[in-house]
Amino acid sequence: MTDAEVPESHPRHDSLVTRHRVEAGVEKGITSRQGLIAQGRGEAFDYLLGEATLPSADRAARAAAAHFLLADHPVISVNGNVAALVPGEMVDLAGATGADLEVNLFNRTDERVRAIAAHLREHGATEVKGLTADARIPGLDHERAKVDADGIAAADVVLVPLEDGDRAEALGAMDKTQLVVDLNPLSRSARAATVPIVDNVIRAVPNIAAHARELRGADRDTLEGVVAEFDADAALDAAERAIREGGDRDGAESE
Ligand code: ATP
Ligand code: MG
Repeated sequence: MTDAEVPESHPRHDSLVTRHRVEAGVEKGITSRQGLIAQGRGEAFDYLLGEATLPSADRAARAAAAHFLLADHPVISVNGNVAALVPGEMVDLAGATGADLEVNLFNRTDERVRAIAAHLREHGATEVKGLTADARIPGLDHERAKVDADGIAAADVVLVPLEDGDRAEALGAMDKTQLVVDLNPLSRSARAATVPIVDNVIRAVPNIAAHARELRGADRDTLEGVVAEFDADAALDAAERAIREGGDRDGAESE
């Protein structure tokens, strides 16, 4: 079944479309089979979150946009799930924020890095980093540590959607501002983030881009205000409460 073949009226339409995209990503050689497991975990959390963007996740997306606009060298890290789910949206976000795109894989093979870079170019990317892999993130084993010296290694702000916990912690130890999209508010990645965005990448990535476009004309003071107002612990607590308590999701968010 392709995207188009899932009937719009199906009650789980969006979830099924998402699943098919990840499946197609595996068939195309851009997503690893491990990516299917990650997708399953994500779906379970999204179900519990009501498959909608929480107010706290929207505030996180806005704070992420402000960080991007304040950054000297922002980089967006793209893995196999993200490439399968939101390739065009990632290219658009890079345009809206002035960030570079870098392919960065947990189960890295040069073949898959090249396939993802080509996939992003098909969706309009001009430059994609990640192939040089001439720098290392300290504290990780060899394959998982590889990054580009003029990309993630030199970045001051990095967006890492669906990153694994170890790498998120290692990047945090390098003093980078880390923007993480992860549906699990308890995951180490979300907890290591400067800005955890507890939302589906499908909703979060276009939302960050929309906030970036809206904030683009703002002065530094305004952007710094948006950054300072955001409270990562409160956002994680709000998401966890929404999952545990369900029901009135706005009401569950008395921060
Ligand atoms: P930890 O961070 O605790 O070390 P992990 O990162 O090793 O856990 P994985 O299963 O590798 O665990 O990570 C997948 C993560 O990605 C899960 O937390 C899952 O909720 C999240 N995820 C999967 N699909 C999406 C999606 N579409 N949007 C946002 N997050 C997603
Ligand atoms: Mg994680």
